[in-house]
Amino acid sequence: MENILVLTHADETGSALTRASLEAVTAGKDLAARLSASLTIGIVAVDATAAAGALTSTGARLLAVSGEAFAQARYGSDAAACEALCRAAKATIVLAPGSSRLTRVAAGVAHRLGGFIDTHITALGGTETVEATRWFYRQRIEAVLSRDNRPWFLLLDAGTHAAFAGEPGVTSVEQLTVELPALRTTVSGFRAPAQDAQTIRPDAKMLFVAGAGWTKKQPDGQIHAAEAGELILGFLRATSASLGSSKSLVDQGGDGVPVLPFLTHMNQIGQTGATPRHAKGLSTCCHGEEPHVVGWRFIGDRRAISLDPNCGWTRGKADVVYIADAFQVMAKVNALLDAK
Ligand SMILES: Cc1cc2nc3c(=O)[nH]c(=O)nc-3n(C[C@H](O)[C@H](O)[C@H](O)COP(=O)(O)OP(=O)(O)OC[C@H]3O[C@@H](n4cnc5c(N)ncnc54)[C@H](O)[C@@H]3O)c2cc1C
Repeated sequence: MENILVLTHADETGSALTRASLEAVTAGKDLAARLSASLTIGIVAVDATAAAGALTSTGARLLAVSGEAFAQARYGSDAAACEALCRAAKATIVLAPGSSRLTRVAAGVAHRLGGFIDTHITALGGTETVEATRWFYRQRIEAVLSRDNRPWFLLLDAGTHAAFAGEPGVTSVEQLTVELPALRTTVSGFRAPAQDAQTIRPDAKMLFVAGAGWTKKQPDGQIHAAEAGELILGFLRATSASLGSSKSLVDQGGDGVPVLPFLTHMNQIGQTGATPRHAKGLSTCCHGEEPHVVGWRFIGDRRAISLDPNCGWTRGKADVVYIADAFQVMAKVNALLDAK
């Protein structure tokens, strides 16, 4: 019989689990029920007892590694914590959120335990054995993997499962003592861009994509890059949408072409960019070519505003296409949002 362990960690408060961790809990509960397997949840947090409150109704065995040493992500302490949790749970299947914190240590921990790891898992199936689904070749091929090797670590992509939301309460947690190795890294603080400067928001409901048309000559023969920037940032401020871009727009900057200073290659969506998950997407001033649209694979409702009635979006890539001037449409949308 499989022993399933879900590894979780706290957010920056140190006493609440991250959303991605709670998604992994849902995946673990479902899998354990299907395989009739035992379920353990391992918590890495400063205050694991508080963090465990959200897991009271899971009915799972709760193990924790807690204390100041685990306040911050650091390879040495996190790897030691995860290794201790896996050994205590005698885990054969380890599910973990594909967060930057656990992605950094999971392969190392799998190696220490003589196990195997697969990443970017989007679904778990199977009733006799574990079948893990992931995409290959820029989300064009979907594969179902199974392995006989144990322990098998599976890192789950965020946004693929509902976050566990049981009735919170007080529960008992088995605290593990971890012998830390000599720590060479001291975490002196955390520096992050201000929330409104951070335009990539994986948890946002909506993706807003800017294409190269925003910095091209408009019907009046002029370029309106400053106005474009204001319209885009105004919409993001009002909606908290995540900002994506076409490759053509983020590649600009040579030959005196105006750039939108808040865009980087990190915003690029597509074959050589990102494939985010959002319920809705709105593309503006973008042609909707296949290398771009392949990055929209996991966007639920796709809409586009383009001047070109023959653009890729109108050729079956979008659910709704507005053949219109995005400058005018977004100015109107922003005014309506402001009025609200
Ligand atoms: C190997 C390879 C990998 C690639 N990877 C990627 C990738 O990962 N991501 C990606 O995006 N691209 C990628 N590309 C490039 C891709 O093929 C396109 O060239 C790119 O997506 C075009 O960007 P765009 O639509 O913003 O620009 P354009 O093709 O220049 O289109 C601009 C659009 O804006 C419209 N427009 C202009 N003004 C307005 C207005 N006022 N209102 C409304 N619409 C307006 C125009 O009608 C036009 O349709 C790749 C290409 C290759 C060969």
